[in-house]
Amino acid sequence: MKNIKTILVAGAGTMGQGIAQVFAQAGYHAFLFDVQPEFIQRGLQNIDQSLAALVTKGKISKEDAVAIASRIKGTETVDVPADLVVEAIVEDAEAKRKLFAAIEKVVSPSAIITSNTSSIPITQLASSLRHPERFAGLHFFNPATVMKLVEIISGAATDPQVVEKLQHVVKSLGKVSVIASDAPGFIVNRVARHYYVEALKLVEEGVASHEQIDQLLRASGFKMGAFELMDLIGIDINFSVTSSLYNGFHQEPRFRPSRVQQQKVLAGHLGKKSGRGFYDYGKS
Ligand code: NAD
Repeated sequence: MKNIKTILVAGAGTMGQGIAQVFAQAGYHAFLFDVQPEFIQRGLQNIDQSLAALVTKGKISKEDAVAIASRIKGTETVDVPADLVVEAIVEDAEAKRKLFAAIEKVVSPSAIITSNTSSIPITQLASSLRHPERFAGLHFFNPATVMKLVEIISGAATDPQVVEKLQHVVKSLGKVSVIASDAPGFIVNRVARHYYVEALKLVEEGVASHEQIDQLLRASGFKMGAFELMDLIGIDINFSVTSSLYNGFHQEPRFRPSRVQQQKVLAGHLGKKSGRGFYDYGKS
């Protein structure tokens, strides 16, 4: 298997931006792709801002920031010379499957293709590929530049050598990998689901307001309350993940998605990225 030097990050949203930056900081070259050209530009600008903040904090030099930024290029096509693809588009199985089919037509036959999906079965996504053995889950956490853990998920057809290679890649990023089998929500999202689902139930039942619940959770030692965290993650993404686990576990009531959350999605109040979610960020 070829050495990995160049990455295609597909999806320039919350996760794609962070993932491209993480790879570039570790010396890789990254292409950042999105269906919306303006999102590519926004993504590159956000990465520049994030690097400038690291310079201000004294974590990297100005020269480092320039070198890192120069290793990230925006692209409006997936036809780039990538050794590894990390897909981070919307949490929608059909959209992802279409994208993989398009990528597989142009990417090098030796490239590894991965998805940052939070909850869609890797085996299901792999079935859209002609070579599912080179496909795996590579699940970063938000913010990708900060969170150390990366789940590597092996689908039914994933070649063990691909998993091994991904373990090396994760290590080279200064992160820690854990290998998960292809079960709904893998490990972290399954465990963490109840943090959100129970908090939403408390609001739905009128037991407490979201502000009160967040205050209490912070006072109990959690770094962020459930509602601030949903705003950071993206309420649409969090809702899709819960729906996916609910269906993955055959409508198991423990994972039932909340109407409160669904209404936020329908209203377009998606959290920090849209300027408003459970809290107001003064942008919409
Ligand atoms: P996001 O909504 O911030 O960004 C998604 C981006 O994908 C958008 O810029 C959109 O224009 C683009 N896109 C949509 N369809 C596309 C296509 N066909 N081709 C190329 N680009 C396309 O989403 P996000 O929060 O970055 O999540 C991306 C993925 O990462 C999802 O699968 C999500 O489950 C997963 N994830 C999210 C988090 C989180 O906390 N947000 C954490 C871990 C994993």
